Amino acid sequence: MSVASDSWNWRCLLRLRDLAESFVKCNIGNGRAASFWFDNWTPFGPLIKFVGTDGPRALRIPINAKVSDACNSVGWILPSPRSDHVMRLHVYLTNINRPTDDKGTDSYEWMVENKICDGFSARRTWSVLRPRANLVDWSSSVWFKGATPRHAFNMWTANLDRLPTKSRLAAWGVQINTTCGLCSLLPETRDHLLLTCDYALYFIWNAVSSRLHLPQIVFGSWSDLISWTRVLNVRSPPTLRKIIAQAVIYAIWKQRNNLHHNQIYVLPSVIFKDIDRVIKNSITARRLNKRFRLLMSLWLH
Ligand SMILES: [Zn+2]
Repeated sequence: MSVASDSWNWRCLLRLRDLAESFVKCNIGNGRAASFWFDNWTPFGPLIKFVGTDGPRALRIPINAKVSDACNSVGWILPSPRSDHVMRLHVYLTNINRPTDDKGTDSYEWMVENKICDGFSARRTWSVLRPRANLVDWSSSVWFKGATPRHAFNMWTANLDRLPTKSRLAAWGVQINTTCGLCSLLPETRDHLLLTCDYALYFIWNAVSSRLHLPQIVFGSWSDLISWTRVLNVRSPPTLRKIIAQAVIYAIWKQRNNLHHNQIYVLPSVIFKDIDRVIKNSITARRLNKRFRLLMSLWLH
């Protein structure tokens, strides 16, 4: 998967910094794009975690500072270290060259197990993240044979409540209006956005339930969704429910990003058509697997 052909995925994952920090390595050029506190540009990982949330005050470097803001033409501008962590940061910085314009722009690389990938690799990342031991009760809803890696990865992130929703961004200190952009009524949390927002509930989940000939789906909480994916029902078996749940969660999150970052609103009926197509493609791609063979007719009728 190349960066250019899947740039949405790439950009989305760059925003998932707290999860992606071990995968996205930032190489400093002129230091004008990389975030001093949030990017992974030192061996210590994002400095907001390494130094702590009082770092911006202690180091007198604002939370939204770029790496280049931490130096002048002579060198790094940092007050005397008052903690072990800051001391280690000082030692590291004094041993590297400061960002300068002749080095070009900052760049990001996707690394899996310390190897640089040519762009983002969902498959390789998945194989590292995929839990092999200590399976928890939700794991079969996230990682199942035949899952689409990018959907499973997104589901896994959502399941841990690590999607950077506006409420989470606000909790990290980002100045942001937390109102859900899809309904303009309630704060954008994971459960609101993906389960109970009118956009998700009345349009998308409702379309799913009528397609499956089920009563209107109402999820009170995330665990309701996970339980729903496991219900043994001949007309909508767990494998189909998992494919659907992952495709829906992915599509709503993608639409939310499209609205939040590009101000593009797409009607839920259009999104559902897209979900329908994605589900059909997922099933078609796996038609040689006998578990998937019956699913198409269950989804279509
Ligand atoms: Zn909403």
